[in-house]
Amino acid sequence: MTDIFEIKNTDPARWNSWKWQLQRQITTVEDLERYIRLSEREKQGIRTAGAQYRWAITPYYVSLMHPDYPGCPLRRQQIPVLEELDDAIGLPDPLFEREHSPVDAIVHVYPDRVAFKITNVCPTYCRYCFREYFVGNAEEHHTRAKIDEGIAYIRAHPAIRDVLITGGDPLLFSDERLEDILTRLRAIEHVEVVRFGTRTPCTLPQRITPELCAMLERYHPIWLNTQFNHATEITPEAALACDRLLRAGIPLGNQSVLLKGVNDDVETMKTLVKSLLKIRVRPYYLFQCQALQGTAHLRTSIEKGLEIISQLRGYLSGFAVPLFVLDTPYGKVPLQPQYVMGRDGDDFLVRTYRGELWRERNPIEPGVRPMALLTQEAEDRRFPVDVNHNTIACMEPV
Ligand SMILES: *Cc1c(COP(=O)(O)O)cnc(C)c1O
Repeated sequence: MTDIFEIKNTDPARWNSWKWQLQRQITTVEDLERYIRLSEREKQGIRTAGAQYRWAITPYYVSLMHPDYPGCPLRRQQIPVLEELDDAIGLPDPLFEREHSPVDAIVHVYPDRVAFKITNVCPTYCRYCFREYFVGNAEEHHTRAKIDEGIAYIRAHPAIRDVLITGGDPLLFSDERLEDILTRLRAIEHVEVVRFGTRTPCTLPQRITPELCAMLERYHPIWLNTQFNHATEITPEAALACDRLLRAGIPLGNQSVLLKGVNDDVETMKTLVKSLLKIRVRPYYLFQCQALQGTAHLRTSIEKGLEIISQLRGYLSGFAVPLFVLDTPYGKVPLQPQYVMGRDGDDFLVRTYRGELWRERNPIEPGVRPMALLTQEAEDRRFPVDVNHNTIACMEPV
């Protein structure tokens, strides 16, 4: 049998076919070892943790991994490790999604939009997937009946103006099945925006064919969010996939997850967001990795995320900076470094990205309750009261 990874050089037509990539998904230690070196302990991790939480990786994504270095950020995202079995507090469904599912395929948390899960299959199963309760259990797309039920729910709820088609990875549906869903959603008058949540531009960029893009273009407005977590993932193939989508008029956003040993330092994150802008993908969210079972070794503190954001904001183009969010069962909560320091009389006291303080005369309007002093830091440091209006008080940049 030809080595899976030799195909890349010897038969690029096959390598570049998304169906071939899926048929040849890497699912065994033996196949993985054709490309990367694994210690006995790592093999044991794959066999045990991999039996607990499903794993599979496209040959394309494996080919981006470092063959010798186990700490490779791509390996950490996708290869099962023993540490997954050692998590005291993680929950199987930390967002209680099942409680927010009026029908199986729909998650309805916000007033004007829903997540519509059309499949539980992915080209590559991320080790920190918060839909572990659902994704990859049995490998099957949702049945026609469940999708019909989802569409009926959307049709029956006129407040829903934004439908987020997700999964699993929804782009594993054929173009024909996707088009059928889009046609039916577009027939619902109150559905204004359709967007996809898909990691294929990163893990299976071959899926973004000219035919797919030509089809999607007929159902605008379509938006798409993907997930790159490390600049190594931004390859010529990924750039081509994004370019095709953008040329079809689909705005692209990126939703990263903050992961220990993957992207939890300022330089790595700066390189990632700058690389995203070069391929015209807008950093949208940076997710706190929540208390999901099997992810203790990947979780960072919330402070770590705040620190990273405070080192991006102001130092890089505004649109390079994602919003750091914690997802909760009741919606996403923005987590922001503190820039509003408090009030002093009628003045509003703020901090710049470099730590300078600014006093802004705040035109309090009748009927508006002024904000109380906000932070302990503001209390402790008591802003100098003798600064003139609109001058910068000299303080140590923080
Ligand atoms: C994240 C999410 C959305 C989309 O939220 P935006 O903040 O608009 O991107 C919609 N529904 C559910 C259940 C979600 O988790």
